[in-house]
Amino acid sequence: MKDRLHFFWTAAKIFDGGNMEIKCLPYGMFGSNSYIIGNQGECAVVDAGVGSGDIMDAAGEKKIKYIILTHGHIDHICCADELKEKTGAKVLIHEGDAGFLADSMKNGSALFGAARSFKAADDFLKDGDTLEVGGMQLQIIHTPGHSPGCICIRVDKQLFTGDTLFRMSIGRTDLEGGNHREIIDSIQSKLLVLAEETVVYPGHGESSTIGFEKKHNPFVRIR
Ligand SMILES: [Zn+2]
Ligand SMILES: [Zn+2]
Repeated sequence: MKDRLHFFWTAAKIFDGGNMEIKCLPYGMFGSNSYIIGNQGECAVVDAGVGSGDIMDAAGEKKIKYIILTHGHIDHICCADELKEKTGAKVLIHEGDAGFLADSMKNGSALFGAARSFKAADDFLKDGDTLEVGGMQLQIIHTPGHSPGCICIRVDKQLFTGDTLFRMSIGRTDLEGGNHREIIDSIQSKLLVLAEETVVYPGHGESSTIGFEKKHNPFVRIR
């Protein structure tokens, strides 16, 4: 029997995403969130920060079509290779962070423990791309700043923001390729313009909404 503390840390959070099913595994390295978003027998994984077994359990019967990396940092990519190997899903990343996978300095693994390098992605994403998964349309929004190839993924009124936008905070910009002016511009020009009721699912921490962040996020507040 699992003790309660263990159960707490390894529990998936399940969100009401309307037609789509959204599960969050919030116990990745440095507390990163990995999401499984599914519909009609198919799903996509947004960031692979927890073990492939846990992600496959959460996916259940649904076929994992894509492993979409919001950017190339170790806490979001650490289990991408093993998940790809076990499921045959395609690994996708924005071209701006493509070089992070194999480079242990850029992906940060050399700075945080053991240096690791990962296989090249199967395909590259760019701003405005749309992916189809189980009848859902996943829109790719390029939001550089935390790293050059950061993306957010919008599915109707659900927005997965990686390390670009957090509840009442934003991603750090002191790592390789980071740029403070760029992240502020990305958030203000591409995210805060979305419908206020859009739900924000960040790469770390609790979910939020665009309306809440417009009012309360001290970094990007619009008065
Ligand atoms: Zn990051
Ligand atoms: Zn992160």
